[in-house]
Amino acid sequence: MAIRPILHIPTPCLREVAAPVVEVNDEIKTLIKDMFDTMYDAPGIGLAAPQIGVMHRVIVMDPADEEDEPAPLAMINPKITWLSEELRVHQEGCLSIPEYYEDVERPVLCKVTYLDENGEYHERECDGLLSTVVQHEVDHLNGRLFIDYISRLKRERVIKKFKKIAKRAAE
Ligand code: ZN
Repeated sequence: MAIRPILHIPTPCLREVAAPVVEVNDEIKTLIKDMFDTMYDAPGIGLAAPQIGVMHRVIVMDPADEEDEPAPLAMINPKITWLSEELRVHQEGCLSIPEYYEDVERPVLCKVTYLDENGEYHERECDGLLSTVVQHEVDHLNGRLFIDYISRLKRERVIKKFKKIAKRAAE
């Protein structure tokens, strides 16, 4: 079990585009295990590799309710191939922007293709919370954060707050 430190904004790699995984090897399998450990420890319901400073297109999620059995789901090179026109609002948070929550509107359904941790190809239609989490995590792989969907004023305010925290921690 290895819990890796989660990077917070304004760490630059959170704004960078992650590279596709070429081969699902032991390194990637270890990465996925560590990502699950880190996500469950946080605790969170989703984590993307750039959030621990690894610029690979890998995401892990578990959108199960607390009282339900865990439902871990790892996606390598996820690609959203379709989004519904119908939208859903969910109050989102992010392990890279701790203790900050805002309503975000996203398509209620999405279709995603990906490789699992054994290198098997899947195509899956997601709805509800899973759809929101998949879209949020895939955004991370493209350097996009949920605060990009809120008003500019709110976004600038939260970025400023975390810049101050980072500056204080560096002192
Ligand atoms: Zn996030």
